[in-house]
Amino acid sequence: MVSRILFAYPVGTMKIFEFQGRDILRSYGIPVPSGQVIESTEAAAGAFKAATAGQASPLAVIKGQVHAGGRGKAGFVKLVNTAQEAESSARFMFTNRMISPQTPPEGLEVTKLLVASAVDIADRKGGGKEEFYLAITTDRKTRRNILIASREGGVEIEQVAHDRPEAIIKEPLHPILGLQAFAARNVAAKLGLTGKHIGQAADVMMKLAKLFVEKDCTLAEINPLVITAGPEGQIIAIDAKFSFDENGLFRHKDITALADSKEENPAELRAQKFGLTYIALDGSIGCLVNGAGLAMATMDIIKLHGGEPANFLDVGGGATEEAVTEAFSIILSDAKVKGVLVNIFGGIMRCDVIAQGIVNAATKHKNADGSIGFKVPLVVRLEGTNVDAGRKLLEEARGKIPTMQAATDLTDAAKKVCSAV
Ligand code: GDP
Ligand code: MN
Repeated sequence: MVSRILFAYPVGTMKIFEFQGRDILRSYGIPVPSGQVIESTEAAAGAFKAATAGQASPLAVIKGQVHAGGRGKAGFVKLVNTAQEAESSARFMFTNRMISPQTPPEGLEVTKLLVASAVDIADRKGGGKEEFYLAITTDRKTRRNILIASREGGVEIEQVAHDRPEAIIKEPLHPILGLQAFAARNVAAKLGLTGKHIGQAADVMMKLAKLFVEKDCTLAEINPLVITAGPEGQIIAIDAKFSFDENGLFRHKDITALADSKEENPAELRAQKFGLTYIALDGSIGCLVNGAGLAMATMDIIKLHGGEPANFLDVGGGATEEAVTEAFSIILSDAKVKGVLVNIFGGIMRCDVIAQGIVNAATKHKNADGSIGFKVPLVVRLEGTNVDAGRKLLEEARGKIPTMQAATDLTDAAKKVCSAV
C-alpha cells in the first residue's frame, strides 16, 4: 500500500484518453492512423465511412476511450469491416462497462469511442504479428528517464514482463542529451528490426523521448508500435498512453485542458479545489493529517493496530478554517468511513484552526441520510502550535460531538480508532 501512496502522493499524475495521446504523437511527427471520436451509436456508421474512405477493403477499429488499459482483452477494441458492424460494436461499448485489471472492480462507463482507420499488421516470421512495446518513464532506481522496449508488444506485455524479464530492453536516457541516435538505433536492432525500419523506429523513440521531457510526462507509452503489412511496410503507432506530472501542469495549459473530471475521483477533485491532497484507499478509517510524512506514519500505525485506512486527507501547512471544514466534509461523505482519526502536529498549521474545522463539520456537515455531523467515532490527537486553544474549543463543543474521543499520543489514537471501528 505504501508504494501506492508513494506513487500517488508526491508525484500526482494526470491521465488522458488515447485519442488525445494520438494527437500529441502526431504533433511530434510520429505516424498514427487517422480517426475521429464519437459519443453516440448513431454516429458510428458515418465515422466508419470516414475512417475507411479510399480503402480497397474497408477496415476500421472501434476503441473505447477510458483512462485505463487492457481494453483489447475486455472487448473494447474491435476491428470492423462494415458500417453495421461498427454500429453494433459501438452499441456494445456504450451500454457495457469496461472492466480490466486496470479499472476499479465495477469497471468504467464508456462515453467516447475512437473510430480509426485500422492497419493491417505484418505477420512475423516464426509466428505472431509485428507488434512492439515502447515506453519512456522515470526509473527511480537509477534516477534516470529510461526507454523501455520489447519485441513482445501488444496485449500480453504485462505477462511477458513478469515471466520473461529478459525480453524487456531498457536504455537509460542521457540526462542532458536525452535519447541519442546511436542508442535508439541500437535498441531498434535489439528489437530485431532491419533495413529502413531501424531508422523509422529510432526516429519514433527519439521523438517520444523528446516529448516525454517537454510535456513533463511520467509515462509516454506506445503499445503496440507495429509494422504494416505489404512490401512497403511502415512503422506506425496504434495506441497511445500518457500520464503527466501534476507538478508540471502549471506550464502546460494545453495538457491541463485535457483533464476529464468524470474520469477522476470526485472527492480528489473537491479536495484539489481547496488546495488539499486527498488519496482514496480501501479500508474503513478516514485520516486527516498535515504533511506527507505524518500521513505515512499515521497509516502505518493504524495498520499496526489492525485497522485499514479508507483515505487520507492532507491539509498541508496553511489551510484555512474553510478548507479544514471542507476536508471533514469530504472524509465524512465517503461511505466506507467507519471512523475518523485526526492526527495533527501543528507547526505552520494551527491546532485551533483544525479544532474549529471539527466543530464546524460537527454542526454543519449534512450526511447522506440527512443527519448532521459525525455519526462515526472520531479520535483526535492534536499537538503543537495553539494546542491549548484547540483543545479548549473541542472541550466546549463536546456536547455537539458525542462520538469524539481525545487521544494522548499517536499510539493511543490509533488504538482508540481501531477498537472503535
Ligand atoms: P489496449 O488493449 O487497451 O492496450 O488497446 P490497443 O489499442 O493496444 O489494442 C489492443 C490490440 O488490438 C492490439 O495489441 C492489436 O493487436 C489490436 N489492434 C488494435 N488496433 C488495431 C488495428 O488497427 N489493426 C489490427 N490488425 N489490430 C489492431
Ligand atoms: Mn495497447
